[in-house]
Amino acid sequence: MTIQIEAIKAFSDNYIWAVHDGRHCVIVDPGESSGTLAFLDRHQLRLAGLLLTHHHHDHVGGVDEIRALHPAPAWGPDDPRMPRSLRLVGEGDSVAIDELDLAFSVLETPGHTTSHIAFHGHGLLFCGDTLFSAGCGRLFEGTPAQMQDSIDKFAALPDSTRVYCAHEYTESNCSFARKVEPENPALAERCEQVAELRKHDRVTLPSTIGAEKSFNPFMRTRDRAVISAAQRREPGRADSPSAVFGVIRRWKDAG
Ligand code: ZN
Ligand code: FE
Repeated sequence: MTIQIEAIKAFSDNYIWAVHDGRHCVIVDPGESSGTLAFLDRHQLRLAGLLLTHHHHDHVGGVDEIRALHPAPAWGPDDPRMPRSLRLVGEGDSVAIDELDLAFSVLETPGHTTSHIAFHGHGLLFCGDTLFSAGCGRLFEGTPAQMQDSIDKFAALPDSTRVYCAHEYTESNCSFARKVEPENPALAERCEQVAELRKHDRVTLPSTIGAEKSFNPFMRTRDRAVISAAQRREPGRADSPSAVFGVIRRWKDAG
């Protein structure tokens, strides 16, 4: 069987991503254990490893319970707030999962948290709470400049890269993005598609890097229309991509 990627829903809007070949499985960001344990059981999968992007409870809350029943390595950033017994990884490190013949490279993507990381390989990106479709993570610990740099790392990946975000925030992100770029046809199309998917409670992910570049304001801080919107919102402030980023992020946070 080829590799399949399935979303395990958790809490109100988290996705725990399961990457499997019908025999072995890698789980990304298990914020709670029950859905993952049931998934492994139902599909009779052996756990080959856990990939962890950052320390927030809705991403690591299930790690210990899952590993107690399915001993497997877990990879994550070097941060005392993370669960114990991790294989610590940082920028440029490679995570090899031999059972699935997969290898992911690690990108450090500070902004949402200072030690946030993402995993990239085989045309897949697991970006945790750094990038969302049509949006990005809140800046809990980092600066707009850090988050702009992190998202620039994603922008440098091939357009076809499939983006697996950790939350279903796409619909509300689309409504905000339309305030920034009311005349972007790619955004209008994405909003329409997302409204239809959500009406039927369907997952709006994965997205792709190419698609996000066409409608996600946080990937478009060098675009004329986004710069103008930021300048109207905070006159005199939006004089660099990261300043534009900061204006747009503050605008979104203001609701
Ligand atoms: Zn988070
Ligand atoms: Fe989260």
